[in-house]
Amino acid sequence: MFNRFSAPLSSKVKKGFSTLLLLSSTLFTSCGGDKNGDNVFFPLENDLQLGMQVSQQADSVYASKGQLLDRNSTNPRTRSAYAHLDQIVNRILESGQVTYREEFPWDVKIINDPKVQNAFATPGGHIYVFTGLINYLDNEDQLAGVLGHEIAHADQRHSIKQLQKQYGISVISRLILGNESGNLERIFTQVGGQLVGLKFSRDYEREADEYSVLYLGATNFYACDGAAGFFQKMQTLENRGTPPEFASTHPSPGNRIQDIQALARQRGCKTTAAPDTKYQDFKRNLGL
Ligand SMILES: [Zn+2]
Repeated sequence: MFNRFSAPLSSKVKKGFSTLLLLSSTLFTSCGGDKNGDNVFFPLENDLQLGMQVSQQADSVYASKGQLLDRNSTNPRTRSAYAHLDQIVNRILESGQVTYREEFPWDVKIINDPKVQNAFATPGGHIYVFTGLINYLDNEDQLAGVLGHEIAHADQRHSIKQLQKQYGISVISRLILGNESGNLERIFTQVGGQLVGLKFSRDYEREADEYSVLYLGATNFYACDGAAGFFQKMQTLENRGTPPEFASTHPSPGNRIQDIQALARQRGCKTTAAPDTKYQDFKRNLGL
């Protein structure tokens, strides 16, 4: 589904890459590891810039289809649904485990498409949740689990790291130093175009699952294995031959469920559901 708007995205993203190129020229100052302790060649500004481009395009695509719910809507039920979703996201962000809590905007938007069971986060932390996912899930722990997973992809800078892996630091630095900006722009444009539908490596998927456990455990509110509940439901649908949208960019649940539960046991974090979250009221406010 996300690939559907990768074509219009490319031209839009391209415009932003002159800025991105300028920002990239500062990347030599960023060697020696980022705040996550990873050796990421690109400065954080690249995540922010790329995220802004991707989110602006996502906003315009969904707004043009009338699916982007306005958080400032005059409808009190929509505003109340946003307040509820913000609270879930804030519990995760305030867990003390999100590295770029202050640096990234972490805004969250609801896309009203009851057929799509998905959520995604752009680089730099813009989060999108489809009403189909909210409706599909049984409780808030599961939704928090998926949100934790998506927040981890952004916070661990998976898109930028994947770009770095794909093309190699030496190729990219040569392009910058050698002033082959045309080639560099092409690489960014290609990657920018793919970003929303980006399929991460299994290692990054596993890492995002692990961080979801870590974040939720540190909320002292949600069941830390909330994501496993989502994958269990996803597996049921896959077995019926009707995999949810999330499955198109994510590897099969398979042992991810066991891995999440094993990590929860190992960490000794709470696996009982959060008390009285009014999740059904949240659904009702979205007309679900
Ligand atoms: Zn993922």
